[in-house]
Amino acid sequence: MKTPRSAAIYARISSDQSGEGLGVTRQLEDCRELAANHGWTVGDEYVDNDISAYKGKPRPQYQRMLDDLAEGYRDAVIVYNMDRLTRQPMELEQFSRLCEQAGVTQVKSVTADIDLGNDDGLFMARILAAIASKESGRKSERLQRKARQLAEQGLPNGGHHRPFGYEQDRMTVNEAEAEVLRQAVGRFLAGESSRSICVWLNNEGVQTTAGGPWQTVTLNAIFKSGRIAGLREHKGVVVADAQWPGIITPAQRQQILGHFETKKRTNTRAPRRYVLSGLLRCGKCGNKLFSSIRVDTRRYVCLAGPDHGGCGRLTIVASPVEEFICAAVLMRLDTPEMADALTGRRAVDERQSSLLETLEADRSQMQELSEMWAAKDISSVEWKAARDPIEARIRSTERQLAQASSSSALDGLIGTGEQLMTAWSMLNLDRQAAIIKAVLDYATILPGTLGARTMDPARIQPVWQL
Ligand SMILES: [Zn+2]
Repeated sequence: MKTPRSAAIYARISSDQSGEGLGVTRQLEDCRELAANHGWTVGDEYVDNDISAYKGKPRPQYQRMLDDLAEGYRDAVIVYNMDRLTRQPMELEQFSRLCEQAGVTQVKSVTADIDLGNDDGLFMARILAAIASKESGRKSERLQRKARQLAEQGLPNGGHHRPFGYEQDRMTVNEAEAEVLRQAVGRFLAGESSRSICVWLNNEGVQTTAGGPWQTVTLNAIFKSGRIAGLREHKGVVVADAQWPGIITPAQRQQILGHFETKKRTNTRAPRRYVLSGLLRCGKCGNKLFSSIRVDTRRYVCLAGPDHGGCGRLTIVASPVEEFICAAVLMRLDTPEMADALTGRRAVDERQSSLLETLEADRSQMQELSEMWAAKDISSVEWKAARDPIEARIRSTERQLAQASSSSALDGLIGTGEQLMTAWSMLNLDRQAAIIKAVLDYATILPGTLGARTMDPARIQPVWQL
């Protein structure tokens, strides 16, 4: 291959190459060195500034180089990396076609040699272009690196909404919001629940920076954040003192975290989940009812306010509803529909045991065959002829067995509801809940008569799924 007389050097810097230190100067130096090492004469240098080859924006110097190549002024190209030249496979095809027409076969990059004059080289270039077009992936790595750097310098990160208590620049304190936040923290440290503080904020007409009402998750996240204590966190860990002022002190934040820790520990001793949790709906607003203890009585209630959004105007004492629903579920297990479902299961069981018998018989026959062969009662050929169909049958039976195995919450409940009624109280809460869920879709609780002494069963409207 003859030495080019007038090579083109192409360099490009783009705004997205942060952190790589690949300034144009550096690219040009490396390219010039490459030319010198190969004894190539450089005809001209073409430099596009701050234009990404990915976005497909016009690159005037790149275009000028293409013109020069087409006109025959340049007969070789040097770039730092193929992704400087183009990041779009389409553009590469245009580039290589132009090179082919102009008889330019030598394209070198500092990172890899490309000879567009043969198929291998073009293939290589295509691969490199394809890789470069995935640059967005690498770009995200760069962004992550950048995010970490920002964090370590104590600088704020971007984000859709500004943080509560700070202005859009994420550095300047919004005094009005900061005062609200200090009061909220004070209430929390004094033992008030996040939920109650949310109610207070919403009643006061204070909005989140997203312009909505407060929820405990939002408020708790702010309470726990290092940001309001002037600490910069990265991926949940404090990595530096922030360059913005804190609204509360780091010591206060430690107190807050301590409170959350204590809550987490005491919550493990919280009253156990109720058996109908998630299965009851408010007859007034349709919202799910939640379990709650009021004056020593377990109840299911419709909760208004943050996190729940119900009407808050319906409540029912827990044990009579639970008793009623459980009895209904057990009776349901006695209905013909349930019997059918259970017969279906019994049929599966019968099929399984017949498959197991077949398998057992085939296996013992195999055993018998090998013993006959060992005793020389049959020849190897006879043994093989007898064995093959049995082996095929065993494989097929094993497959069918695997398909026949099934499981459901009602496994082991084959029997009558009456028997279950006796066993019911022995079952643990999770098991009871699983059985109820298998039978009951949900139940709507209708409003009761004010002051009624006993529970009216007509208030309960179950929707069965089985
Ligand atoms: Zn309601």
